[in-house]
Amino acid sequence: MITVLKSTATPEQREHLIRWLESQNVQVHISEGSEYTVLGLVGDTGHIDIELLESLDMVDSVKRVSEPFKKVNRKFHPDDSVISAGGVPIGGGHFQVIAGPCSVETREQIIGVAEAVKASGATLLRGGAFKPRTSPYAFQGLHAEGLELLREARAQTGLPIVTELMNMRDFDLFADVDVIQVGARNMQNFDMLRELGRTDKTILLKRGLANTLQELLMSAEYIMAGGNENVILCERGIRTFETYTRNTLDLSAVPVLHELSHLPVVVDPSHATGHASLVPSMAVAAAACGADGLMIEVHNDPIHALCDGAQSLTPAQFDALMGQVRRVREAVLS
Ligand code: PEP
Ligand code: MN
Repeated sequence: MITVLKSTATPEQREHLIRWLESQNVQVHISEGSEYTVLGLVGDTGHIDIELLESLDMVDSVKRVSEPFKKVNRKFHPDDSVISAGGVPIGGGHFQVIAGPCSVETREQIIGVAEAVKASGATLLRGGAFKPRTSPYAFQGLHAEGLELLREARAQTGLPIVTELMNMRDFDLFADVDVIQVGARNMQNFDMLRELGRTDKTILLKRGLANTLQELLMSAEYIMAGGNENVILCERGIRTFETYTRNTLDLSAVPVLHELSHLPVVVDPSHATGHASLVPSMAVAAAACGADGLMIEVHNDPIHALCDGAQSLTPAQFDALMGQVRRVREAVLS
């Protein structure tokens, strides 16, 4: 349920109402919007008398929220959320590009790629240290050593780091990671989502291979229900009957998620297409349809990459793409 307060409500009136609502066993989520203050009520609101609330002078309107996702719901927070990704704002007009290799391989590789993508305008560095691979015989990542190399790359370039956590057992190693990625395969690892909800880490939550947008929002709700509001959503393609591309990029996810939620939406055209030649067109399309950011795989030597080489751009290709993205954004925003 949401209760929209009039701008004339005094802080004392507001406090009084919030205390009363809390005494009715509902959690109150306050969102200070540009025009109104919205009180989002979570819990068993069935016994709250809507007409009584509506009759209060300070109350503009009261509505039941029929969707099962509450804290991620735009009705709870009418303005776009701006999330800090290691100090870099994303959402609400702040567009960011996360770039880097699929996995961290060597010091030269990660530092070289970090410097190159930074020079082209990327604002965050990605790189997997723990890799969810389909085959147990494939390269699984450098683990703690990979995280250490990411820290070195961050120290060298100033780019905050984004890297995947596969299991809460490793969480302590991620203490100074700027953005924790929850990968597609873990999108519905509810225990993990719940635990991340008790931290204050910024989470990049990727859509599962075969998950609906509502399921993605419910997973974000798990994190936010625990009190962690620092969530960024990521569309990375879904499984369809098409086999030419690795996945099918569902770009309609961007406007749909923006309609339903206040959280920023990033698009990953690398995992969505699986082919470097398709990444630039899908990246500019994502920028054109209002994505708050992009996540792009870039490798200094894609042919010899230990993971996802076929979809990785070279630094030169990434540089050219960044120019296109800037022009498309200027055209769309003007
Ligand atoms: C990745 O970002 O390298 C990755 C494994 O992505 P996804 O979880 O979307 O497959
Ligand atoms: Mn990858």
